[in-house]
Amino acid sequence: MKPPRFEYFAPTSVDEALALLAEHGEGAKVLAGGQSLVPLLNFRLVRPPQVVDLNEIPGLGYIREENGWLVIGGMTRQRALETSSLVRERCPLLADALPQIGHVQIRNRGTIGGSLAHADPAAELPAVVAALEGELVVRSRTARRIVTPDTFFVTYLPTSLDPAELLVEVRLPVTPPRTGTAFVEVSRRHGDFALVGVAATLTLDGAGVCTKSAIALTGVGPTPIVARDAAQTLVGEKPAPEAFEEVGRRVSALVHPDGDLHASSEYRKHVAGVLARRALARAAARATGAEEPPTRGERR
Ligand SMILES: Cc1cc2nc3c(=O)[nH]c(=O)nc-3n(C[C@H](O)[C@H](O)[C@H](O)COP(=O)(O)OP(=O)(O)OC[C@H]3O[C@@H](n4cnc5c(N)ncnc54)[C@H](O)[C@@H]3O)c2cc1C
Repeated sequence: MKPPRFEYFAPTSVDEALALLAEHGEGAKVLAGGQSLVPLLNFRLVRPPQVVDLNEIPGLGYIREENGWLVIGGMTRQRALETSSLVRERCPLLADALPQIGHVQIRNRGTIGGSLAHADPAAELPAVVAALEGELVVRSRTARRIVTPDTFFVTYLPTSLDPAELLVEVRLPVTPPRTGTAFVEVSRRHGDFALVGVAATLTLDGAGVCTKSAIALTGVGPTPIVARDAAQTLVGEKPAPEAFEEVGRRVSALVHPDGDLHASSEYRKHVAGVLARRALARAAARATGAEEPPTRGERR
């Protein structure tokens, strides 16, 4: 189908875009990469009276390092992040997750801001930002605020973004030394959204003892689920398969996913535990430089 009629605006500055959003309010939709919005328009699942296209605004796509943060413009294409050596070096978890998003054609257009603002409960990037405790920089015509993932992701699709706000920047902490990270997921076919995905980080001290760990899951709830208590059990321990098994059991017990056409609730719950264990094993291997365990079933 074709999209319903809408008034189209192509502002050339963030201020102009924000003024348009302030003027048109609730109904207007922002167009970034269009990889989620255009299908929704074409299926007439959304009927915005106005569309504000961000693609003519220069300077909203960038990747740089600033004071211990990897700082990414809201309109940065997923493919630009995927092919960035800075991302690979400074934020390997993000680099690990990106190739698992859809197909390369989608990542060529899709943006980091669009993925986070769309907040699909099976998307990879919200889980990455949640695991890393990143910051989301949001602007309206009159204010700028920094939002943390736990307040940004509210429920299935809606975020705490106001209709007159734009997600202009994403800030991710640079991965500290002796830290391993991994993003693993299971999907039915290459390019499909994940049935379940897990982002994991593990930081070790000089003696190989875990000082920090984080786990965030996608596909098992309306927002990314952070398994804080399960990850915390690793702190003070040397990474070991038995400890990862135990974390996997805790993760599985924590989540209560909905079942659907693609997978039952029980299956997703089980897979969440298995993937948490695998992600931690891979992160631990990366933290120590040991050989990585083989992949089984999940997409890489
Ligand atoms: C076949 C297919 C497979 C896909 N598979 C996956 C997958 O496996 N994993 C995955 O995560 N995604 C997947 N996607 C979605 C893809 O990652 C999209 O790129 C992403 O969800 C939206 O990004 P976008 O830049 O295209 O945003 P758009 O589609 O342009 O916008 C999406 C929504 O976000 C709002 N928005 C966009 N940018 C901003 C901003 N800066 N500030 C405020 N609001 C904003 C828009 O108004 C709209 O409501 C898939 C898409 C397709 C078509």
